[in-house]
Amino acid sequence: MASIAKRLEGKVAIVTGGASGIGEAATRLFIKHGAKVVIADIQDDLGLSIVKEIGEHEVVSYVHCDVKVEKDVENAVDMAVSKYGKLDIMFSNAGIPEALSSSILKIDYEIFKKIFDVNVFGALMCAKHAARVMIPARKGSIIFTSSIASVTCGGGAHTYWASKHAVAGLAKNLGVELGQHGIRVNCVSPFLVPTQMLSKGLGMKEKEKMDEFVCEIANLKGTISDVEDVVQATLYLASDESKYISGMNIVIDGGYSTTNVALKQGITRLSS
Ligand code: NAD
Repeated sequence: MASIAKRLEGKVAIVTGGASGIGEAATRLFIKHGAKVVIADIQDDLGLSIVKEIGEHEVVSYVHCDVKVEKDVENAVDMAVSKYGKLDIMFSNAGIPEALSSSILKIDYEIFKKIFDVNVFGALMCAKHAARVMIPARKGSIIFTSSIASVTCGGGAHTYWASKHAVAGLAKNLGVELGQHGIRVNCVSPFLVPTQMLSKGLGMKEKEKMDEFVCEIANLKGTISDVEDVVQATLYLASDESKYISGMNIVIDGGYSTTNVALKQGITRLSS
């Protein structure tokens, strides 16, 4: 088999939320493609175990970084620069969920603050400190993880939904300011993918159960929504192959958000 070209050779990345789920898969894929990666997370044991398992400190490091604490983000960026010489890619991926069934009647300021602090303020801090070192270099790629919640509606978890709309808006607006400095800003918006977060959101432990649930509601049949689908899109946005793409929200949902589910069910019923 022909070897896969290394699409991030020589690049340095920070992956927030890199100790688990989408972030962990991105870390592994970025390294496979030649990048040096700093995992920035609050799950120290998990993050350190990935570094230990990969075992090459010259290509991967871990830093404790709570993205809602500006000093932590500043420190993570400074560490990437001091250890690896620069920062090419900021994958601002850390995020927290809200119970999918949570009603507007249950929202209070504490819930709002908790979710917006991580999902939105954290993303802003990642962009701010990445821009601080990318602007002088006149290049860089900032990528956020938003969600299908940025382009479709679920009927609950309103604070989470609002936070992910905010993240997609941030990618567009930042792409305008930072484009002046040669920096691209985009986001990826996954459908449901089986991770710790989804497990909590659905109250299901087994991956098979989550896959079954996701397959049932998905638009695209015959395949399963997975973290690999998300990180392949992220790899593209991180690499120079997307050198003229900025301000975009790449939705990885098998066409779900373009489907009017009620109309589709009605048409299926008519034709059966
Ligand atoms: P996950 O729970 O497996 O990973 C999230 C990671 O973020 C964890 O390692 C966690 O420790 C870290 N984290 C949480 N709060 C943090 C903080 N304050 N500072 C630093 N790190 C923090 O979940 P995931 O599904 O991989 O989530 C990654 C992103 O994907 C999130 O932004 C989430 O909103 C988004 N997303 C997930 C799904 C899904 O179905 N799993 C769908 C759409 C979007």
